[in-house]
Amino acid sequence: MNLVLLGPPGAGKGTQAKVLNEGLRLPHISTGDILRDSVKKQTKFGLEVKKIMESGALVPDDLINKIIEERLAQPDTENGFILDGFPRTKQQAIKLDEILKKHPAGAIDLVLYFDSTLKVIIERLSGRLVCRNCGANFHIKNVPPKKDRICDFCGGELYQRQDDKEETIKNRIKVYEESISPLIEYYEKQNKIRKINADFSAQEVYKVLMKLFKDEHLL
Ligand code: ADP
Ligand code: ZN
Repeated sequence: MNLVLLGPPGAGKGTQAKVLNEGLRLPHISTGDILRDSVKKQTKFGLEVKKIMESGALVPDDLINKIIEERLAQPDTENGFILDGFPRTKQQAIKLDEILKKHPAGAIDLVLYFDSTLKVIIERLSGRLVCRNCGANFHIKNVPPKKDRICDFCGGELYQRQDDKEETIKNRIKVYEESISPLIEYYEKQNKIRKINADFSAQEVYKVLMKLFKDEHLL
């Protein structure tokens, strides 16, 4: 099964992708995670994208397309994958379809559009804490860690992402709103978009997704 998760920052795409990854045994490919990893390792590329990410703007299409092309060339994607945070522009979507023409897993099956209200996403992003070591997500109020600032899973340090600061959140949402319609249109033409109410809890959203996969005969 080949999935694309689409939706505003904070809609819970990463959270669902992680659960789906365990349940369906499909690799979770998050361009945000890949980029943050390059920044952490201070590669030449990482240094180039650091400022862009901190401002909440998008990394140029040709750079991100190259990253995805390399990632999809890895053998663990042969039986399918979950794309989280890519594509984010129509040009990226076109590039993805082109890559998949020659890919063993074939074309995209479904595009899950996580629809969430502004109030909910701002609340989720501004309280989000991420593990520096394993990338697990927590929330100051909704999903607090057992020990203050310590990851429940690996004991790593929890931190607030630079782009989860209030000013940047606003810009990320603006960038998202400016870029989303052409993408939705693109996938609507292919009849692949399925809208999901992402304001519900993570467990509820997961149930909705499982039912959808069954209804679509993907499971
Ligand atoms: P979120 O979806 O919560 O905003 P991500 O972790 O997916 O966060 O992405 C963080 C940042 O990484 C984005 O704001 C952007 O700068 C960059 N980025 C991630 N994916 C892409 C992409 N497909 N195209 C361009 N930039 C991207
Ligand atoms: Zn951790």
